[in-house]
Amino acid sequence: MSSPKSIYKSADELRRMIEPGRITALALAAVSGSIRAGVTTLELDAIAEASIRAAGGSPNFLLETGYHHTVCASVNDEVVHGIPGGRVLQPGDIVSIDCGAEFEGWNGDAAISVVVPDVAQPELVRVRENLSAVTEHSLWAGIAALASARHLNEVGSAIEDAIDDRGTFGIIEEYVGHGIGRSMHEEPPVYNFRVRGNGPRVKKGLVVAIEPMVTLGGIDTTINDDGWTVVTRDRTDAAHWEHSVAVHEHGIWVLTALDGGAEKLAPFGVVPVPIV
Ligand code: MG
Ligand code: MG
Repeated sequence: MSSPKSIYKSADELRRMIEPGRITALALAAVSGSIRAGVTTLELDAIAEASIRAAGGSPNFLLETGYHHTVCASVNDEVVHGIPGGRVLQPGDIVSIDCGAEFEGWNGDAAISVVVPDVAQPELVRVRENLSAVTEHSLWAGIAALASARHLNEVGSAIEDAIDDRGTFGIIEEYVGHGIGRSMHEEPPVYNFRVRGNGPRVKKGLVVAIEPMVTLGGIDTTINDDGWTVVTRDRTDAAHWEHSVAVHEHGIWVLTALDGGAEKLAPFGVVPVPIV
């Protein structure tokens, strides 16, 4: 019997994860700049695919059995795994785009949420933008915690605390973050909430995708008839933010942020260190 593969990557393996992370970040930047009322989620999918292929990568969501798109596009009460299609984005919609790129056998994975502007519904926009901001803030709080954590489950505690500090929200528990490397989804699980037990040691070589999913209501979900799309059971809105983050010899580096996370980590007093 072979021993289980280590969750800790070598320095050379970490270096190989820089480019797929960067390609993923570029694709999400391209999609983000194209989100507006009137665009379909399938058009956003095409923008992401073109960006990834132009950079020499491949969309790794295509490697998931039965999935045929580059991104997941989840609108309003859809949490994750929304399938791109003919749905036309409306003013005021909140859309989460989850995207990943593979490059030379290594993977990146990240997600953003964006609210489509709507001058006619300022309160709806305010509530949804706040939901997205709380979710993104909790992601960065979790990444900041990783920088000094002894054990991985400290990340989930930091995420939960960051969300609770900003109001009453639901933190989805049925879907969690994960290790990432040769495969998009690897051990260990990365919880977005406080759990019993410490989890694995945080030390050089650990690479994780941290991805809080937060709702305006409850935490129960169901899957649509399409077999993929996860929606909130109470039909409240959801947001999703994700980054792939490497722990290395000299610090952490957010692989799917073009600046390694420098701007967003600054308020937490954390300075990311490039992988060399
Ligand atoms: Mg993802
Ligand atoms: Mg992921």
